[in-house]
Parts: sequence; C-alpha cells; structure tokens
Amino acid sequence: MSLDEFGLIERIRRRAGVRADVALGIGDDAALLQMPPGQQLVVTADTLNSGVHFPAETPPADIGWKALAVNLSDLAAMGAAPAWCTLSLSLPEASPTWVDAFADGFFELADLHDMALIGGDTTRGPLSISITAMGHVPTGEALRRDGAQPGDDVWVTGVPGEAGVALALWQQQRLEVSGPASDAALEHLRCRLARPTPRLAAGWALRGLATAAIDISDGLLADLGHICERSQVAAEVLEDELPMSQMAAQAGEAALFRTLRASAGDDYELCFTAPASVRGQVIESMASVAVPVTRIGCIRTGSGVRRVDGEGAVLPASRRGFDHFPAEGRSTGL
Ligand code: ADP
Ligand code: MG
Repeated sequence: MSLDEFGLIERIRRRAGVRADVALGIGDDAALLQMPPGQQLVVTADTLNSGVHFPAETPPADIGWKALAVNLSDLAAMGAAPAWCTLSLSLPEASPTWVDAFADGFFELADLHDMALIGGDTTRGPLSISITAMGHVPTGEALRRDGAQPGDDVWVTGVPGEAGVALALWQQQRLEVSGPASDAALEHLRCRLARPTPRLAAGWALRGLATAAIDISDGLLADLGHICERSQVAAEVLEDELPMSQMAAQAGEAALFRTLRASAGDDYELCFTAPASVRGQVIESMASVAVPVTRIGCIRTGSGVRRVDGEGAVLPASRRGFDHFPAEGRSTGL
C-alpha cells in the first residue's frame, strides 16, 4: 500500500507530542510558538542523506532516532533546553511501513526530551531527512565556541571513537548495521553509531562552568580545532589521557579504536573547556547527570591543536575529521 502526501503527514502528525507553548502545530501554513520570557531562541538544522550520512540498509527506526539525535546534540552543545522541531522528508516512495518505523525511532527520542514536532515538508525524491530543531537558553547563558581561554582545561564526555569503530567494521564488511549484532560488545558499538545519545543534561549542567563547547560530529581533534579557531587559542591534547573503550577492547578492536579515537566522528559527545579553578565543579556536575567526563588537555596561547604523548613529544597530526567519501572498501555511499 502506498499513501498520498496527506496520508503520510497524518501518520506523522498523530504521533507528534503536545506542549503548552505550541499555540498552533502541524496543519496550518506555519506553526505558532510561545517563547518563555527571559530566554533566547536557539535554532539548528542538520540533514542526513541516505548513502552519505548513513548506510542505505540502516533500519528506518535507527534513521529516525539519529536524524533527531544529531540536531539535539547541537542544542546540547549550546546548553539549550530542547522544545520544538520541524521534519522535512524526501522519500523515494510513499510507504506507510517505512514512515511508521521511522516515526518509532524519531518519536522515541523526541518524547524522551519533550520535543514537539510542529511542522515540516514531505516530498518525493532520494531518501533524505532534514530537521530544524529549536530550543531555548536563558539570555546570555548559551555555551559558545568562542570563549576558551589560555590555561583552561579541555574535557570530553563519554568515549569518543566508538561510533568510528563501528563504521570502520561496517566498511570492512565485519559488522552489519541492518539489525542487532549477536555479540554484546559489537552491538554496543553498532548502537553508538546508529543511536547516539545527545548529551543534553550535560550541556545544561555546564552553563556557567564551561567557557566553550562543541559536539563531536566530525572528530575530536577537528571539532576542538573549531573551538580554537573561534576562540583564537591553541589546544594541547594528551594522547594517553583519551578515554579507552572497554567495549572496543572486548570486541578485540582496541588497536583500531586507538587509531580512530582522536579523529573519528559521529559520536556526538561534548568537548568543552573550563577554567582549572572549576575542575572539581565540572566533575561534580557531570556526576550529577551521570555523564562520564575526562580531562584530556589544556588551552594555550597560539593556534591549532597538538597531540602529545606521555613524554610530551608531539604526535603527527591524524586524519582530520570523518571522510564522507572514503576511497576504499565499503563507503557510506558513492
Ligand atoms: P504547505 O503547502 O503550506 O507547505 P503542506 O501540505 O506541505 O503545507 O503541509 C501541511 C502541514 O503539514 C503543514 O503544517 C506542515 O508543516 C505539515 N507537514 C508536512 N510534512 C510534514 C512532516 N514530514 N512532518 C511534520 N509536519 C509536516
Ligand atoms: Mg509544504
């Protein structure tokens, strides 16, 4: 069975969450939203294209989760509270089965964060999901990329690099992403790629503590480099301090993980800077939201990101950022 455009929109509309600050949601020419007083609107957009941002055989529920997760991660990196989103879908065919499965993953995550879907667009074309996410933050309190100061610590949440291991294993045809893996460690790695956890509570907890923050979509060093550029500072990352993945080790992929952890993207962890004087508060605040956090380096005067080993020797720059178009093996698309 296939449905017309309005049938598809209705299938999505009936699952959209309700919020008191949505004066008018899906169904009119545009939505009407009530901003809370004293807050700034935070807006971000991200598109996922099939075969570029996710393997074509990814289950639709995972696509729905991830498309929203990457947007929520941007709100997290700003310290924003999520509120509303739009969803623009380009679909090769009007399949209700696909839309329902997509909505399962999308609304599972949206409902977790009280995010209301307030509009969108539905068109025919190659599979592509474009989301605009909106949230709010008390005026002047957003976490930005441009506040890092020499002497600040550099911190990271979670274990960046696990999604990169899953992607590498998929490219080497050693991991399928079309369904759960039978091995528990491999399944953990697959989920890091397919269903990343946006660090929203960590973002809020860092308001007033972090001097700069970014979410890791392109790789730890590349994204820390963006903080450095915007803040006009340099960063030094201590290779030996980077978190190790127990799960990659359990899967026998510790070496692969080590080669990827500084450069692989797609984990959507937060990288942030904070003055050394609030070190204890950073640890306490992350513990209060149950988010693992690791101090991995410091900010210096100058420019660029340097990786140094235990003896202080500078390591060669690794591949910068995730490559959408790898030359060999399975690519995520073309
Ligand atoms: P218009 O022609 O004014 O763009 P549409 O027919 O595209 O209106 O959409 C009708 C209503 O359905 C609008 O409120 C729009 O925001 C909403 N909508 C369309 N597609 C989606 C979607 N994929 N998800 C959520 N809302 C959607
Ligand atoms: Mg429209």
